[in-house]
Amino acid sequence: MLLPPRQVLANLPTPFHRLERLSEKIGTNIWLKRDDLTDMVASGNKIRKLEYSIGQAMSDQAHVLVTWGGIQSNHCRATAALSARLGLKAHLILRGEKPDIADGNLMLDRLLGAEVSHLPVEDYREMEQTYLALEKRYKADGLKTFAIPVGASDEVGLWGYINCVEELLDDFSIIGLEPDAVVSAVGSGGTLAGLILGKAIYGLEAEILGFNVCDNESYFVDKISKDLRLWRKRYKSDIKIDELPVTIIDGYVGPGYAKATAEVFETIGKVAREEGIIFDPVYTGKAFNAMLNEIKSGRLKDMENIVFIHTGGIYGLFPQKEQLLRAI
Ligand SMILES: *Cc1c(COP(=O)(O)O)cnc(C)c1O
Repeated sequence: MLLPPRQVLANLPTPFHRLERLSEKIGTNIWLKRDDLTDMVASGNKIRKLEYSIGQAMSDQAHVLVTWGGIQSNHCRATAALSARLGLKAHLILRGEKPDIADGNLMLDRLLGAEVSHLPVEDYREMEQTYLALEKRYKADGLKTFAIPVGASDEVGLWGYINCVEELLDDFSIIGLEPDAVVSAVGSGGTLAGLILGKAIYGLEAEILGFNVCDNESYFVDKISKDLRLWRKRYKSDIKIDELPVTIIDGYVGPGYAKATAEVFETIGKVAREEGIIFDPVYTGKAFNAMLNEIKSGRLKDMENIVFIHTGGIYGLFPQKEQLLRAI
């Protein structure tokens, strides 16, 4: 198997601990992998993937990192932060109209000196053309661009969560834990895809389960299967990709991407008060609330130990302060 270039950027290993009061209350042990603590400014799960995307960009001697996302993209904010840290330029292409006042992640994008282009929703699908135009523009100034896909979720970024499985196995062995499942929110699929590969590579017993926060099950099964096959081809692995289960628990998207129900905000409030842990309404709060529902009466009912990957997202809470304050 070939190994990819890597730029070390995250504070690893991240802490691992049980949610004490919540676990007692519901009768199932919930463990958190604290990937909200991978960094301050570039916090969350994207930095693990970006270690490899940016590693590749540096080995290609690129000057400008171009990437995409929603207005409140954590991935774009992490890319902006890491670009500033490394002396690179970030150019972010964000979906939707420019808001009057930049809040949350978008405020940080601006503060970190990223160049931001706002693309109307209907033009957002023309990513390829937008990128080619930018590439040409920068080239005229003697600058080389490197495109990082949405969420850094491609065969390169997958390595971030392959590595995380190795880290988790250390966490488990220190306390003698054999969890039933490792659970994560799914937004662009790279985190779950990496966990699935890491399980196969390192022989993790636990099931890998994802809660999608947008789109649906079949979309993510296709997307993740495709990225797994690209990974195997690029890095010449002999792992039997087609035999790896891709398990998405659908049904919790609610009103849509980045839109959460009052129940999700209530769960965010409860976990904050009882455990001192902050989740966000777009990813972690939605997925954690879904997990609690499935523990109560569903797919996770008979499990004793569940590991939830806290993938970060705190800055996405601020632009939704009104709904949050109404629900808590
Ligand atoms: C992007 C993101 C996710 C989802 O990870 P993917 O690899 O895109 O599926 C989960 N939580 C947070 C906070 C994120 O920013």
